[in-house]
Amino acid sequence: MVYIAIFDTIDNAKTCCNMNKQLERLNSVRERIDRACIAAGRPPGDVSLLAVSKRHPAEKIMTLNKMGLVSFGENQLQEALEKQKELSTLQLQWHFIGTVQSNKTRALAENFQWVQSVDREKILKRLSAQRPENLEALNICLQVNIDRESQKAGAMPEDIPKLAELAGSLDNIRLRGLMALPRQTNDPQEQHNSFKKVKNLFDQLNSGGYDIDTLSMGMSHDLEVAIFEGSTMVRIGTDLLGKRPE
Ligand SMILES: *Cc1c(COP(=O)(O)O)cnc(C)c1O
Repeated sequence: MVYIAIFDTIDNAKTCCNMNKQLERLNSVRERIDRACIAAGRPPGDVSLLAVSKRHPAEKIMTLNKMGLVSFGENQLQEALEKQKELSTLQLQWHFIGTVQSNKTRALAENFQWVQSVDREKILKRLSAQRPENLEALNICLQVNIDRESQKAGAMPEDIPKLAELAGSLDNIRLRGLMALPRQTNDPQEQHNSFKKVKNLFDQLNSGGYDIDTLSMGMSHDLEVAIFEGSTMVRIGTDLLGKRPE
């Protein structure tokens, strides 16, 4: 409602209603995160929110940034680069969450603050070698294929320790944690089990001497379960930005 006064034409009134709608969605997602934290006995504010803006136009990112969000997730390099160019005056933090092809690592190393979907040694080495010296170390999450699904990206759980060791030894990347996309299911018990497995792997790395702080898991339909099981970052697209354009 707060925006009404500053718009006077029909077109701008539309923009205004879209902004109200956007603010409602953001508040609702934030409330769900807070409630899930409380239910899990964790401090609200323990979980950060990554807005997954893939396939949505740059204006939506601008709107969400006005509402205080700074971290955005994209899964297609070309699309992300175009939005970054359009939004270059804003201070945003870009996370890559899509499949990483080795011929795309240079552009990722040059233009992103985070790559959450690393699942191979070769990609780790290239990202470190190609990270420009004038930028801070690139934040990395290792993507784990926690339910061993053949069609899905991510390293198998047993391959994670070796990847973590390599990541820890490279100069221009900083290992931050794990990212997972569990099997799609509406069975809450299965959801809990998958997230629990990721959390165990995360705890194992930490007790093995890695100082990692990011457990990236939970999307629109399962953020409550993910937070209950220890997620520190939820990646929300649909419930935050609406249905993705085709
Ligand atoms: C699209 C996507 C999301 C967001 O999914 P929603 O169900 O729209 O919230 C999260 N993580 C990854 C890796 C994605 O590709």
